[in-house]
Amino acid sequence: MGKEIMIGTIPVVIAFLVFIGVNVAPFIIAAVILSFLTFVIMRQGGMSVAQKKTPIDTPKTTTNFNDIGGQERAKKEVKEALDFLIHKDTLKQYGIRPLKGLLLTGPPGTGKTLMAKAAANYTNSAFVAASGSQFVEMYVGVGAQRIRDLFKEAKQKAEKNNQDSAIIFIDEIDVLGGKREGSQHREYDQTLNQLLTEMDGISTSETPRVLMVAATNRADMLDDALIRPGRFDRQIVVDLPDKKARKQILEIHVKNKPLAADVDIDAIARDTFNFSGAQLESVTNEAAIYAFRENSKEITQRHFSHAIDKVMMGEQTDRESTAEERERVANHELGHAIVSEVVRPLSVSQVSLRPRGQALGYVRQSPQQDRYLYTVENLEHQIMIALGGAVAEEMLYGGRSTGSRNDFEQALNLVNTIIDCGLSQLGIVKMDMVSREALHEERQRILNELLEETRAILRSYFPVFQHAFDHLIREEVLNGEEFRAMMAEAKAMPRKNNVEDLESHLINS
Ligand code: ATP
Repeated sequence: MGKEIMIGTIPVVIAFLVFIGVNVAPFIIAAVILSFLTFVIMRQGGMSVAQKKTPIDTPKTTTNFNDIGGQERAKKEVKEALDFLIHKDTLKQYGIRPLKGLLLTGPPGTGKTLMAKAAANYTNSAFVAASGSQFVEMYVGVGAQRIRDLFKEAKQKAEKNNQDSAIIFIDEIDVLGGKREGSQHREYDQTLNQLLTEMDGISTSETPRVLMVAATNRADMLDDALIRPGRFDRQIVVDLPDKKARKQILEIHVKNKPLAADVDIDAIARDTFNFSGAQLESVTNEAAIYAFRENSKEITQRHFSHAIDKVMMGEQTDRESTAEERERVANHELGHAIVSEVVRPLSVSQVSLRPRGQALGYVRQSPQQDRYLYTVENLEHQIMIALGGAVAEEMLYGGRSTGSRNDFEQALNLVNTIIDCGLSQLGIVKMDMVSREALHEERQRILNELLEETRAILRSYFPVFQHAFDHLIREEVLNGEEFRAMMAEAKAMPRKNNVEDLESHLINS
């Protein structure tokens, strides 16, 4: 209404001013400039801090705990914590203070966001989500205002949906809740203070009840004020899945996909050691994409195999290598594979000459069992597998190449683990208390012994190089079964022959 009166009045006033002889041109120019500036500011979201809306994501969550594979212990702990929200009258009877915050910690992609969504569903709560990085702003006070908006939005949403509780999820809480250092003032200190104030304001009698769920990969970085009792006082670890959990996650994500009869989910779960839930989801998706590209009606085990390589190593590259390089890479990879199969039978799942990511070739190993504790023997075996490539090059070409740099880095890290864990001849030590020379000597002693053992293994399986090499150059891929057949053949040959074969090969080359 006010707008209409203004629109009607302004021309009348201008006409009157012109009539009495006033020069109106400067007023008109100033009005045009002002309107333009107002328009630009409005388009950019406004200058006023108070008016700026928090860009919060408010999805309607249908996720439930059955959509989360594995994580049984974490799910149980979250559900137990949520029962505090559901049975709030009983809590009052016992005088238990309300649970205000749940902190989910663990590596990226393990299902923390899923867990928060399932929590909202389980408790029939309104769900609002934001990420820590959304609160870090250049302008003082904006972050704090956003926190206030977030709590307001959660309560409004719950009231609108007739729900008597709301869950606020903040991902990457470490961005806004990192440790405060000294007296240095940062903008996000205000944001963090605001969050603490809002959390302190949560009470049992309040409706809707608010529960904060936060996620971080770096719980050690959080400010103590945030994790003290009464705030995020329940920490739940959401870890990388073990084999059984990987199988469950894969089963969830293949439900809507056409699988061929040869697909073996158990084998895929075995081959994906150390993969997160997000990576496993990606494997199923990439496998479906490979099938789609080939116009195949069903997704086969081969598609899954390519998908695992893609998620682990990156997309196949078109890097053109010379014939000489390809041959060297083939022998290098066979060196790894032979040692791997000898020290860990059945561990080679594929040897490939297809360049992926940074690698010109690779051996995919499938551990028979997930392992979290290593003996010195396990570590030594891993070092020998890493050295296998360089030793093969040394034996077949009389020298190594730069292709072994990552292998050596891996081997040296493992040697350090041996020393650090008190498994070396130095006994129980603290790395920084041993002299550099002593450390160097022990590292070299361990490496030289293992290099010698690796040489011995490769010498006795030398015919495998001859048989597998042609296959690998021709087909680019050698699967575990084919490779094992060649290993068995070489094992059946008298050892003396193998050594003579190697010596004659070296003489000829
Ligand atoms: P980040 O720390 O990077 O934010 P996150 O731990 O919050 O990761 P989510 O966003 O919950 O991980 O997971 C990403 C995707 O990975 C999910 O949408 C889902 O498809 C898949 N996923 C992860 N974990 C699981 C699981 N346990 N069960 C089923 N799917 C999972």
